Amino acid sequence: EDRFARLRRRVSSGLGASLLSIFRRGALTQDDWDELEETLLLADVGAAASDALLADLRARLRADPEAEPRELLRAALLDVVDPGLDRTLAFGEPGRGETDAVIVVGVNGVGKTTTVGKLARVLVAEGRTVVLGAADTFRAAAADQLETWGARVGVPVVRAHADGADPASVAFEAADRARDDSVDVLLVDTAGRLQNKQGLMDELGKIVRVVSKVSPPREVLLVLDATTGQNGLTQARVFGQVAPLTGIVLTKLDGTAKGGIVLAVQRELGVPVKFVGLGEGADDLAPFDPHGFVDSLLG
Ligand code: GDP
Repeated sequence: EDRFARLRRRVSSGLGASLLSIFRRGALTQDDWDELEETLLLADVGAAASDALLADLRARLRADPEAEPRELLRAALLDVVDPGLDRTLAFGEPGRGETDAVIVVGVNGVGKTTTVGKLARVLVAEGRTVVLGAADTFRAAAADQLETWGARVGVPVVRAHADGADPASVAFEAADRARDDSVDVLLVDTAGRLQNKQGLMDELGKIVRVVSKVSPPREVLLVLDATTGQNGLTQARVFGQVAPLTGIVLTKLDGTAKGGIVLAVQRELGVPVKFVGLGEGADDLAPFDPHGFVDSLLG
């Protein structure tokens, strides 16, 4: 089954339907432009990305007045969601005896632990060995949840021996274990309490440093909840201060989210969206497919 089918069905009843009706009318009137802008804003594209997209569309229409406006919009959308950034994970060959470390960051509740579990499933299916590190030691439930995922996917989980242990020491222990066992990929789940921003940043910085001593992190993935709309941009700027983000995972695109946040994220952050979360199940993580996504927006 097409992994984007569910998303397409839902989005096409929103943004897609409006866009379709606008573009069916032929030449665009001022009312059409206003409606187009409103449609983009309602779909969570955000003011800056909407303005830029509409300016781009106007330029394309001027340059090529005979073209189908809908096709020009498709090209403009693709330019935003596929700015030519590498969306693959920067991993070496499996089985070479070196560990590719991945630090997964994001605010609590966005779907970090779930994403770590789903990603482990994807990597195991690719023939890689995986270890999970439960560096969210603040909530015991977080480590329990990660252990459940580890059992489901069949990969070991390194967790704290006591409540409130130092997250960086758990991350270090997990990195050590991964190296000793020549595991291909280490996935480190982290805490995301934004209430104490400085504390969180210090903690994440320390995790990145100690893991780096064992295996340089190939990826720092930021998990964003698509249903929180433009807040995701603020979160990305905060987390980007700790370590250069190498990729974004946009979760909950199956829920009430309007797909437009993908455009805002891709345009504003310069970090590729690498995966999307399309449900709570183990198989509900898909590589981000810009063409499929734009098709889903246009219906
Ligand atoms: P964390 O606090 O960031 O680790 O977030 P969790 O992984 O605990 O996820 C929070 C909630 O979001 C859980 O109920 C997950 O099942 C749910 N969730 C995570 N990813 C997705 C997704 O892609 N789609 C949907 N519908 N729910 C998700």
